[in-house]
Formats: sequence, C-alpha cells, structure tokens
Amino acid sequence: MFEKILIANRGEIALRVLRACRELGVKTVVVHSEADREAKYVRLADESVCIGPATPRDSYLNMPALISAAEVTDAEAIHPGYGFLSENADFAERVEKSGFVFIGPRPESIRTMGDKVSAKQAMIAAGVPVVPGSGGALPDDSGEIQRIAAEVGYPVIIKAAGGGGGRGMRVVYTEAALLNAVAMTRTEAGAAFNNPEVYLEKFLENPRHIEIQVLADGEGKAVWLGERDCSMQRRHQKIIEEAPAPGIERALVERIGERCAEACRQMRYRGAGTFEFLYENGEFFFIEMNTRIQVEHTITEMITGIDLVQQQLRIAAGEKFTLRQRDVHLRGHAIECRINAEDPYKFTPSPGRIVNWHTPGGPGVRMDSHVFTGYTVPPYYDSMIAKLITYGDDRHQAIMRMDIALSEMIVEGVHTNIPLHRELMQDARFVEGGTSIHYLEHKLAARA
Ligand code: ADP
Repeated sequence: MFEKILIANRGEIALRVLRACRELGVKTVVVHSEADREAKYVRLADESVCIGPATPRDSYLNMPALISAAEVTDAEAIHPGYGFLSENADFAERVEKSGFVFIGPRPESIRTMGDKVSAKQAMIAAGVPVVPGSGGALPDDSGEIQRIAAEVGYPVIIKAAGGGGGRGMRVVYTEAALLNAVAMTRTEAGAAFNNPEVYLEKFLENPRHIEIQVLADGEGKAVWLGERDCSMQRRHQKIIEEAPAPGIERALVERIGERCAEACRQMRYRGAGTFEFLYENGEFFFIEMNTRIQVEHTITEMITGIDLVQQQLRIAAGEKFTLRQRDVHLRGHAIECRINAEDPYKFTPSPGRIVNWHTPGGPGVRMDSHVFTGYTVPPYYDSMIAKLITYGDDRHQAIMRMDIALSEMIVEGVHTNIPLHRELMQDARFVEGGTSIHYLEHKLAARA
C-alpha cells in the first residue's frame, strides 16, 4: 500500500478519500484553494498545500500546481475524486509521466470513454446494448443525415461526442427541424468542447436512469457491484439515488451487470467505473461510462459492504485483486439524498456562513459531509454540502429512515433543498418506486 497520497479535490469527497486513507494507514496530503483554507479535511490531513486562488481554473484545475504539490510533499499517488480533473486523460497522463500513480483508469481508457462516439463503439464491440442510432459521428451530407434519422425513427436526439454535464444535446421531433438542429449542436459543441463531432440516437421518451458499478484490476479481472437507480433528476442533475433499482427483474439486471464486467475484462479496465444506462420497457440502453468514483458510490457501499474508495487505492497500489463475483452479495436497500445549499424550489445557489449545523443519526444513517457549524459555503463551487444516506432491510425501511433523518436535520444560515427531499420521501409515486427521469421536473412544473 502507498505510504502517502495526494487528494486533488475538495468538499465531501476530499473528506471521504481522507477517511479511506486513514483506515488503511496511508498518510494524506490535501490541496486546497484560498477559499477552502478553513475546511475540515484540511485540518484532518497530515499535510496540506494551498494551490492557488478560489477560481477552479487557478487551483483545482491547475495541473502544474497539483503535480508540484505532489512533488514537494513526496506523495506517491494522486486521487482525483470526481469532477475537476477526474476524467481528464491528459491529466492522468501527466501524473504518470511525472512518476506518480494516478488512482484511476489508464489514460487510454479515460480517453476512449470520454468520447461518446468511441465509447459507444467500444460497448457495441463488447456486447453491451446501446441506444439505437447513427453508430458513429454524423456525416456532412444532408441527405445521408436525413436517411439515418428516418431509419432510427423520430423523435431523435442529437448529441455532442465530447459532451458532458447534460450539455450539448438537442431533441428533434420532425424531419423539418433536423438539419438545423444538427448544425446548431455542431457549432455549440465546437465552441464548448472543442470537438464539433455530433451523433444521433433514438430519443427515449420515458426512461429510467439505471447504472452499474464495476471494479476491475487492469489485468482482466472485474466484478460488478449491483445497480443504482438515479432517475430523480432535475436538469440532468441527480438529486436522489437508490440501490437496488425497484421493480426490475433480477435476472435482467444480472445479465447487464455481467456484460459490463465482461466489457471491463476485455478492455483491461482498471479501477472503479460506472456504466450508465437508460431503461425503458424492460430494456437497457448504454449511454455513457464514467471512469471515476461517483457521488452516489455510497449506496453501493451500503448494500454490498464493500468500501469502493479503499478498493480504488488497493487496485492503484497493485495489490492482488481478490474480490470474486461470488463474494458480492446485495443486502437491503439504500437511499442517498444530495443536500445542496440552494433555494429548495427556485434552485438558486445559497452560499454563506452556516450558523447552526445539526446532523441526524440512529440505525442505518450515514452522513458524508465536510460541513460544520461556522463553516462558510463558498460561492465558487458545486452547491452540494452533504450526502445523507440511509440503509434499511428493505426499501420501505430505508425511506422511513430517510424521512426521519431529514426531519432531524437542522441547517441555519443558508437555504437547502431539505424541504424538497422531505416532500419526495412522502410522494406517493416515489414511494411506489420506478419513476422516470422526467418525474421530478413534471412534478415541479405542475406546481409552478
Ligand atoms: P452527459 O455526459 O452530458 O451527462 P448523457 O449521455 O449521460 O450526457 O445524457 C445525459 C442525460 O440526457 C441522460 O441522463 C438522459 O436524461 C438524457 N438523454 C441522453 N440520451 C438520451 C436518449 N437517447 N433518449 C432520452 N434521453 C436521453
């Protein structure tokens, strides 16, 4: 195992990685921007390095600053967390060229999966079902584009190969709107992602978002650790996640999970990863792979008892991969609510000083948060301040525990989306289970 690693992130995930390191006896170096100087994990870390001003471009996205921080502290490896540089193949490459271990997949894997066209092609080759579509980047010829769209069948969605974060997509319902939509998406994609390539997919009208967690050793061993249902979203941002996904036949999930593990074996994938699918009418369709730890990894940890961050560290350190599929057992049900510092219904960010912070507890309650009374939520970063996770023997118990935990929580000084979460825990359709990715937006629109 490593003696010392550098954590190249902030907020709750910096603390989460730090906790995994402490349990494994690994020393930690935490980097922070000027705005995060007072963070809890900065105090808990063995060492800390200020890497620049608040603006992410000057700190958490500043590759030379991060690599120098690893150099001056003699760290052996870098954990990128999620967001920031976690899926940047160039960063992974620079980390390795500078003589450090990147705690994540090989740069080539990140690059292949970062381009959605090549990612889809890799999945087709590995036998993972994908959303029907153009099967590659769209050509320039208008007639050819129209022919492809007609063959796939309307509605279709035009997506940027380099897209991410829910941006660079356009739904098209009729041939009349097609060519203009393609041209506009191309222009936007060129400007936003420096890659004008676009592709076309069948637009699924009422899908659920279901994803599969994998762990692989980079040498052809891989397991999958159940699925997560992340359909409760607003503007493609996940708000609540749960595991397992309610109401889907286990044999179907097992088939798709095994396909994902097999794809990892074929690609010699290394580390933790997530295959994201849209699920509609009993069928799974791959949309993208995330080559990093995800926010919602916690619920998988709760139902499998496997610490995913520790597994990332063990794999990166080159320990023998001893986990076997037959050792992975799913037990009970877990739910995660992302607590954001924002107006619960207008969704405007609400940074500022937290004057009172009281967290819930009791059986089956887990709180992952870097926040404390007196902490100031900076305005420069993501608004998520905590992840509240509950576990129960079954879904009903997990929901009950979440409802109670939310009612115990006190946050004063900033607004949070706790009222929205409380409402959703009592929402008849959510309680029933299996709502689609549009459910929350429709519910919010009906109220407005
Ligand atoms: P990003 O990397 O920007 O998150 P994704 O490919 O994961 O892009 O898609 C983001 C979201 O857009 C999905 O979760 C889903 O809500 C919607 N979406 C993407 N592709 C389709 C599709 N073919 N049909 C319906 N909705 C889609």
